[in-house]
Amino acid sequence: MIAVLSGGTGTPKLLQGLKEVIDPSELTIVVNTLENDYFAGVYVSADIDTVLYTMADLINDELWYGIKDDTFITHEQLEDIGCPELLRIGDKDRATKIQKTLLMEKYDLAKACEIQAKNMGLTCRVIPMSNENSDIKIITDIGELEFHDFLIKHQSQPEVLDVKFSKVAPVEDIIDVINNSDAVIIGPSNPITSILPIISLEGIIEALKNTHVIAVSPIIGSGAVSGPASKFMKALDVDVSAVGVASLYNEFLNTMVIDTKDDDKKIEVNQIVNKVIVTNTIMNNLDAKKNLAKIIIENIP
Ligand code: GDP
Repeated sequence: MIAVLSGGTGTPKLLQGLKEVIDPSELTIVVNTLENDYFAGVYVSADIDTVLYTMADLINDELWYGIKDDTFITHEQLEDIGCPELLRIGDKDRATKIQKTLLMEKYDLAKACEIQAKNMGLTCRVIPMSNENSDIKIITDIGELEFHDFLIKHQSQPEVLDVKFSKVAPVEDIIDVINNSDAVIIGPSNPITSILPIISLEGIIEALKNTHVIAVSPIIGSGAVSGPASKFMKALDVDVSAVGVASLYNEFLNTMVIDTKDDDKKIEVNQIVNKVIVTNTIMNNLDAKKNLAKIIIENIP
């Protein structure tokens, strides 16, 4: 069994490759919930839905958000009646979110995800990192912002001075999942707002120390492939490089995968982690995703 720690863009690309290379029933994906909140009356767990849709081949993988070929009739109608919503939620995607909201009247988030994964015919497990909502604030040069306001309203433009999030309890299963896994893959996700929240959960670092952990750098050269990861890393005084990513995970990391363009950083990364793999990590087509997944699987002892 292999556990994967995931956010909502970089790691799902890798999941598209992994599910072609190994039997998906071998995968348990632990997903970030830091950004979860209610929007326009529905519970939005964007990263979880992205992982569910990715594994079900439904994902809009241009945006890494929502269902491919979705329509936006309700979104536009909400705007027309003077009730615009911050997130652009598609009609089919909204149905998933309404279902999750209704399920959560009866069950916790983990159970709601389990039911939805089953409905989508998935054989892998998808577990939210926590059933509790986090309080996340992006401290910027224009003031303290809610995460989605920073990301969407302000298009990640403000200078970031700090990132703060509250402590939440892990979903109980996660420690067992990690303890029983042959390896844990930390996908190329935002180290600060996707992975740090998961590894900050009580007991996770101790569990990670007892298994083989292999991470892929979301940073190539001195920048992120996409999104605001560099800004967040800079704000927390983490070097914006594969070296900085390795240093964040150094307590438990066994193998680090860095991009071919970072070959010159291999020695420095090797001072932090035992094994360094240099390969193409840009996943812009299915072959690249499968190749990277294959290399990772082959390097699990
Ligand atoms: P979020 O939840 O949407 O922020 O998504 P994630 O946290 O899963 O992923 C964001 C990170 O994925 C960014 O820091 C990107 O640099 C990284 N990323 C996206 N695509 C790729 C890729 O093809 N290769 C690598 N190495 N990193 C990627």
